[in-house]
Amino acid sequence: MRPAQNSKPATYRCPFCEEHLPSMMEHVLIAPEGDTRRRRHAHTECALAERRAGRLPYRDEWLATQPERRGRLARLLGGRRAR
Ligand SMILES: [Zn+2]
Repeated sequence: MRPAQNSKPATYRCPFCEEHLPSMMEHVLIAPEGDTRRRRHAHTECALAERRAGRLPYRDEWLATQPERRGRLARLLGGRRAR
């Protein structure tokens, strides 16, 4: 899951709430099981709700955009990438 920045006018359908999702509004891209060929556009709020429910795995690209949470999470993960 990562933030989507799309200047192309298009309307997607959120896979979680089935509502329309204009590409110009802030939303996120999700990739089931990390498969980017199956990526879907979803409302940020819907994706966060799914993630809180434990049904959406973290993506490093998305984490990289969450600066105040990243350091804490990196420590929680045992400093796998920090030395
Ligand atoms: Zn939605």
